[in-house]
Amino acid sequence: MRIKAAVVDKQGSNFDIRDDIELADMGADDLQVHMVASGICHSDEALRKGDAVIGYPIILGHEGSGIVEKVGPEVKNFKPGDHVVLSFYSCGACDNCLQGIPTQCLNYAANNLSGVRPDGSAHFTEGGKQVDDMFDQSSFTTTTIVRESNAVKVDKDLDLRKLGPLGCGYVTGSGTVLNTLKPKPGQTIAVFGTGAVGLAAMMAGKISGCTTVIAVDVVDSRLELAKELGATDVINSSKEDAVEVIKSLTGGYGVNFAVDTTGVTKVMEDSIQALAQGGTSACIAVTPNHVDLDTWNDLCVSDRSVIGVNMGDSIPQIDIPRLIKFYKAGMFDFDKTEKFYDFDQINEANADSGSGKTIKPVLIIDKDYVPGK
Ligand SMILES: [Zn+2]
Ligand SMILES: [Zn+2]
Repeated sequence: MRIKAAVVDKQGSNFDIRDDIELADMGADDLQVHMVASGICHSDEALRKGDAVIGYPIILGHEGSGIVEKVGPEVKNFKPGDHVVLSFYSCGACDNCLQGIPTQCLNYAANNLSGVRPDGSAHFTEGGKQVDDMFDQSSFTTTTIVRESNAVKVDKDLDLRKLGPLGCGYVTGSGTVLNTLKPKPGQTIAVFGTGAVGLAAMMAGKISGCTTVIAVDVVDSRLELAKELGATDVINSSKEDAVEVIKSLTGGYGVNFAVDTTGVTKVMEDSIQALAQGGTSACIAVTPNHVDLDTWNDLCVSDRSVIGVNMGDSIPQIDIPRLIKFYKAGMFDFDKTEKFYDFDQINEANADSGSGKTIKPVLIIDKDYVPGK
């Protein structure tokens, strides 16, 4: 079927919305999803710029929310009319998937970052030529097809336009804390970068019972929002030395946990230096940058860990409903980070995300969608 999609034709080119994209035929285990909205994530920008590469031309977008239009005969858990949030794909059959860790799916890259469907066929074509996909999803489209493992059913009384970013940014930030770092009540955490991922990590620190939740950024307005969302302390690291301030806020020891969402070398290094004895820093940005570590002083003798966490070690079908419960209880006000844009404003929305003007741009793809129906 013919659909409309935002295509990145080559490395660094702007999104070009075209209506001559051919969507592949549905497989027996596919859902066809009418897209209502999609968040724009920094990973989309990394792939557009070429900091990480699948291939070109490509249709990006991996924070989609929409309505199931059709299901294949082998689909078990969804029916037409279901409202869904889309996330990454996992195979469900490898050792790690069978152990319940889909973010460590042994076929993760082959399925999510290969540009094609899990069976190797093209998800999209234009004039007979393959256009790559992302996360087996590509939400910068009017319609896409996904597998059951990509999709999470959500209540129809929620505003579906707001929910797409739960599928990547928010589940990544919160899952890193709730699933991986697992702070105990009374412990301390510092979050570097207060974009959507960082603010989600920070709110998860608060939910976990951390009594010191420190937000670090270089934009004062973001730090104001961080305070509103629960940071106990904020640091503008363009004006103050973040490591020194964190130590002074924690009795000279440093924090038990740090999360770096920036991918900037100096900031990632600060997130490690800000740790107390025995602390753990999670590096979760998509970045080509490296860090310099003194393995004896920075890690061994101080008994610290530096870990990578993919997609917040989440199981989307468990974690996203849990985040919605926190949201309904007023503990996870993720929508305060969002700003809506029309689909055809995608380049402006992405630029506003890059400049820091907007924390989480959300593209409204179906303008006729009415919340609650
Ligand atoms: Zn797997
Ligand atoms: Zn993302």
